Amino acid sequence: MGATLRGMFEQTVAKYSNKEGLVDLRLGTRWTFSEWDDEVNRVANALRASGVEKGDKVSTILFNTSEFATTLFACMKIGAIFNPINFRLTEKEIQFILQDADPKVVLFEKATSLQVVSVAKEMTGVEFWSIDEEDLPYALNYNERINGVTSERPVCELDENDPYAIMYTSGTTGLPKGVIHTHRDMIDQALIMTACLRLEENDRGLTVAPIFHCAELHCAFFPRVMIGAANVLLHHFDAPKVIETVKQEQITSFFAAPTMWNMMLQEDFSKEDFQTLRQGLYGGAPMAPALTMQLHDALGVQLLQAYGMTEMGPAITALTEEEQITKAGSAGRALLNHEVRVVRTNENGPAEPEEICKPDELGEIIVRGPSMMKSYYNRPEATEEALYKGWYHTGDIGSFDKDGYLWVSDRVKDMIISGGENIYSREVEDVLFDHPKVIDAAVVGEPDEMWGERVVAFIVKKEADLTEQELDEFCTSGSRLARYKRPRRYEFVDELPRNASGKLQKFKLRERSTTLSE
Ligand code: ATP
Ligand code: MG
Repeated sequence: MGATLRGMFEQTVAKYSNKEGLVDLRLGTRWTFSEWDDEVNRVANALRASGVEKGDKVSTILFNTSEFATTLFACMKIGAIFNPINFRLTEKEIQFILQDADPKVVLFEKATSLQVVSVAKEMTGVEFWSIDEEDLPYALNYNERINGVTSERPVCELDENDPYAIMYTSGTTGLPKGVIHTHRDMIDQALIMTACLRLEENDRGLTVAPIFHCAELHCAFFPRVMIGAANVLLHHFDAPKVIETVKQEQITSFFAAPTMWNMMLQEDFSKEDFQTLRQGLYGGAPMAPALTMQLHDALGVQLLQAYGMTEMGPAITALTEEEQITKAGSAGRALLNHEVRVVRTNENGPAEPEEICKPDELGEIIVRGPSMMKSYYNRPEATEEALYKGWYHTGDIGSFDKDGYLWVSDRVKDMIISGGENIYSREVEDVLFDHPKVIDAAVVGEPDEMWGERVVAFIVKKEADLTEQELDEFCTSGSRLARYKRPRRYEFVDELPRNASGKLQKFKLRERSTTLSE
């Protein structure tokens, strides 16, 4: 059997049966670990009654809800494969994933029903369960399905190498790809993160980042369950509500995407509001050093950054609390049992793992470790390419400094080539972020007859009087930015397009910039 997530959950239940394990603020409900286990068993038995067997898939299109958390462990109890889907996707995108993943049961809620309705009507042989009280002709009701069902633990033979989930990548650079992770992968990831975060049973974690994304689920939620700490669920991110909840629920630790931290900074709060918080986690996208510094000063909270990707479970490096100031902007160092290399890129195929770059030399980041995916779901060619010679090729460009810290510069696909020179968007964005009148910034390349591509910047202003000229002077003054890297055009926007986990959707900016420059 080995180390399974079911085993991990049941050990915590045995050890901390009467301790608070799960809180759903939307329902106002609190469960001890033992009450939560009963609920998980009921859902597991209800799924079986609906014909879900070992190896079948169960999809969710849910926000941060107890139904998500309970169904997740219910799937593990019966060996079903859990498939959490991004609740912000469009109807078409959801349809693509559901057809790819081919689930037996799909859970959704009122807030996602519009994206689900036509797919639900089309897909035959699939049960759609709504967690809200809605009378929908195409769906069954979650509460009715589990009402009266036994809470006896279902019997199921599980192996640590059985798949536990199919998680889809964010689809930032193309169509999302299903990633298969086993029970063992996630036990390793949870152990490593528990140690990295120095979690203990008295911690109280808040789930504000989307729980469907592996950054929240695997780096924060699972480690807390493993150590017997409570998970408090906030349905979705809302800056004032997060600040209020930290105080009310005596939260000690939570993860948020850099853009969420940025939104919290714009709120009115005092350091006292964060008195119980001993650590703030961020990752999933770059955070400008200027923002790290502001957060550090304003909240008085220790920050910890993780860098990773769905394929790796996700975390592979971390920048610890102590290193935030001395190495602000770096992604830190490899996590326990993980290997990270920067290797020379290869125009004709995957980069060779032995072609290691020197310190400060830019190349592709490649990694391997215990929670590396086994394969993409149904994509043998993409798997072979991504896992070339046993290393996951991240598609990110970066370098190691002389002290062994990793710096992530850009995604290969976002790099701008102007007049034959490579421009890494992160470097330009970090400079723009330094300007006191800038709240948010992103740069992309747009076609240019003379230079091939030129840099265009999208800016969210903090103060209305900010001008293009002012920004141009700022970029070029001192040694902030080499002249060829500076933006040639600025667009002032109300907000930047980001997905649910805070990643910039640069393809949308590129589309916009092409339309405008035509
Ligand atoms: P797709 O692979 O479908 O294009 P995606 O790569 O955005 O989507 P994820 O696995 O959710 O999907 O994101 C991983 C990527 O996010 C990394 O490859 C990296 O580019 C970026 N990233 C994650 N954490 C950090 C971080 N701390 N700093 C900078 N970039 C980060
Ligand atoms: Mg990716």
